[in-house]
Amino acid sequence: MRQKLFQRFVRRMKAMMLNTLPGMISCREFDQFVVDYLDGRLPDHQQHLFERHLRVCPDRRRFLDRYRATLALEQDAFNGGENGLVRCRKP
Ligand SMILES: [Zn+2]
Repeated sequence: MRQKLFQRFVRRMKAMMLNTLPGMISCREFDQFVVDYLDGRLPDHQQHLFERHLRVCPDRRRFLDRYRATLALEQDAFNGGENGLVRCRKP
């Protein structure tokens, strides 16, 4: 119970920090530009803000890892399932 209260407190402090400190972006802003980030289409300044957010936000690090894994699976399926995860059966 105490642990949960502490975790909630930490989460709230983190959100406050990300939303109010200059030079930080919120998780929501992160989500809006994640595709551009992965495509390398962000200007240097924004890319720097993204990477700063990643350093302090385990939630978005996890999110980005999963997002990249999903993209890799999609790419693999598109290429015919080279690593054996996705294969088409011949009729
Ligand atoms: Zn975040």
